[in-house]
Amino acid sequence: MESGISEIKRLYPFKFRTFAVLKAPGMLSDQIRSDFPILTRQVHGKPLVYLDNAATTQKPQAVIDAIVHYYSHYNSNVHRGVHQLSQEATDAFEAVRTQLQSHVNAAHSHEVIFTKGTTDSLNLVAHGFRSVLQPGDEIIVTQLEHHSNLVPWHMLAERTGAIIRFIPMDGRGVLDQTVYESLLNPRTKVVAFNHISNALGTINPVKEMTAKAHAVGAAVVVDGAQALPHAAVDVQDLDVDFYSGSAHKMYGPTGIGLLYGKTEWLEKLPPYQGGGEMIQDVDVTSSTYAGLPHKFEAGTPNIEAVIAWGAALTWMHQVGVANIQAHEDELLAYGTALLGAIPGVKIYGTAPQKAAVLSFNVAGLHPYDVGTLLDQMGIAVRTGQHCTQPIMDGFGVPGTIRASLAAYTSKEDLDQLARALERAIALLA
Ligand code: PLP
Repeated sequence: MESGISEIKRLYPFKFRTFAVLKAPGMLSDQIRSDFPILTRQVHGKPLVYLDNAATTQKPQAVIDAIVHYYSHYNSNVHRGVHQLSQEATDAFEAVRTQLQSHVNAAHSHEVIFTKGTTDSLNLVAHGFRSVLQPGDEIIVTQLEHHSNLVPWHMLAERTGAIIRFIPMDGRGVLDQTVYESLLNPRTKVVAFNHISNALGTINPVKEMTAKAHAVGAAVVVDGAQALPHAAVDVQDLDVDFYSGSAHKMYGPTGIGLLYGKTEWLEKLPPYQGGGEMIQDVDVTSSTYAGLPHKFEAGTPNIEAVIAWGAALTWMHQVGVANIQAHEDELLAYGTALLGAIPGVKIYGTAPQKAAVLSFNVAGLHPYDVGTLLDQMGIAVRTGQHCTQPIMDGFGVPGTIRASLAAYTSKEDLDQLARALERAIALLA
């Protein structure tokens, strides 16, 4: 990580903060909120309380500055020109690949593929498995998945004749490991599951589930969209074959994401898209493909977003991923107690291992109505199915209200949520 950060600091002359402040007393959120200009705005005349971080996080000034700086000083295409601007852009772009390699502890930087986001990463892998699966092969998914880790596998099954099996959750939102073990067999070729559920916050035992899948020779594909913002991820320790994430959920820009893949798998899978930069040789009737990572990066990438993601990673590491996790864990306990004490509130997702998501409903009230009133009071929460219809069906609800936390979330934010919720209940009752 250090070499990546010093490269970014060299390339970006704007000032980075030094987070010695974390040694000072007080909550993390007090010390970093001023990095996020949007948090000072008002909504419907009320101060914004932003609790929709699982959908997307807000961006620190360093990320906004990185985009402006790139376009003001070295906008150019990457990997193409010998000219100075292209060299600078390529250096900055590739430095972020190295940062990400360190961030997830990948063995090689070519194992980090830039994609449009988690959805794109998962589609890339599922598309690649078209050439691997045979009719009757089995793909295991789980009830806890975001649709982006279900639909690509459904499409793959339709295309190849493979069969989808699934691991159900229990009433707490915990995956049934006994069912999982009973599903594994030599026909299992892929096991796809998330690290952290976006709807419930459940943290899945990735390492244990991966070892079980590998015991029958299956590849493991992990949706890490909600884990990368909240916890240190070590893909080598987890031993997963693929791991995906989105920059916009970890203080970075939209339109850019990561696919980590083990070298042997990335070499085995065919390219996802064809075009410039992913080739070795092209004549009018045939092509050969470039090596990793370029084989999976056809066309001009989202250069500004990659570079700004580097600034977001630098920001996260200056704050400290462990500090972010500890802060969110403390707030999760605080918010759970606060909401749980409000009559009629039911919290969904009570796994013992849980990340900072509070999904809840109020007896007799539709989540949409509650969410609309909360918005009028300046509180941004998400309402609905959260792209996880199988979870909602499992609980027999049309949706939930979801408050999802981030590094800058404060106890005051949660106090305001609780007060606003009580007012909304009184108004709707
Ligand atoms: N997986 C999970 C667990 C998510 O929470 C999300 C987004 O909410 C996604 C996948 C899809 O991410 P993106 O829309 O950035 O591709």
